[in-house]
Amino acid sequence: MLDIRPIPAFADNYIWMIVLPDGGAVVVDPGDATPVINSLQSLNLHLTAVLLTHHHGDHNGGISQLGDWAKSNGQSFTVYGAVTSDYSDVPCRDGDTVNISGLTSPVRVLSVPGHTLDHLAFVVDNALFCGDTLFSGGCGRLFEGDARQLYDSLAKLASLPDNTEVYCAHEYTLSNLKFALAVEPQNQCLKDYLKQVNTLREANKPSLPSTLGTEKAINPFLRVDKETVNAAVAAHAGQKVTDEVSCLALLRRWKDNF
Ligand code: ZN
Ligand code: FE
Repeated sequence: MLDIRPIPAFADNYIWMIVLPDGGAVVVDPGDATPVINSLQSLNLHLTAVLLTHHHGDHNGGISQLGDWAKSNGQSFTVYGAVTSDYSDVPCRDGDTVNISGLTSPVRVLSVPGHTLDHLAFVVDNALFCGDTLFSGGCGRLFEGDARQLYDSLAKLASLPDNTEVYCAHEYTLSNLKFALAVEPQNQCLKDYLKQVNTLREANKPSLPSTLGTEKAINPFLRVDKETVNAAVAAHAGQKVTDEVSCLALLRRWKDNF
């Protein structure tokens, strides 16, 4: 079992940290260096590697400062990211498998364009680090890609086993679930999940990780093949929805203005 811990950053980001048995750590999307350095110091860990999902500043903004900090301690780490990123020591492509020292399992790389064109997801054992592509109850906005790309990316993630743990980069779950309920007010799994998440958030605990099995039952963006979602989207858009990609496009637009 991997030891995975959240490092809260900014208003609602999570920088996920995998604590390695050898005293190293792998950090996903360090948008801010300070909370990462504090966590590493308090646990007496060194930084082995950074996994970078995409080029937005709230995900990569802390890398330079982490580099300076590591150097001042006589250490160094390896950054795994997109081929287009200047930060990438090891440029990663779809289907790549990378081995990180101290991590017994390989890291699988998936290309998941949509939110951005360079977006990657990383799979280690049954943990999925999906950045801003998939959120619990929602998905990332389409900043660079189109609905077809996002559809394919979400399908790629949904094809992983149901027990896959979903480590998203933001605590957006409650607001996503409000929207999800507007789309599927009769979805009992969704109502039950909302109760669970409310309890966690009231206790100031992360709602994450979720699981893919849960997301397939409650996340409308993974449910564009369902009659309930199709009908809600059609009613909201005032038009017939003929295929899953247009359903996703209209659903995303609805959420953008929700
Ligand atoms: Zn982003
Ligand atoms: Fe983000």
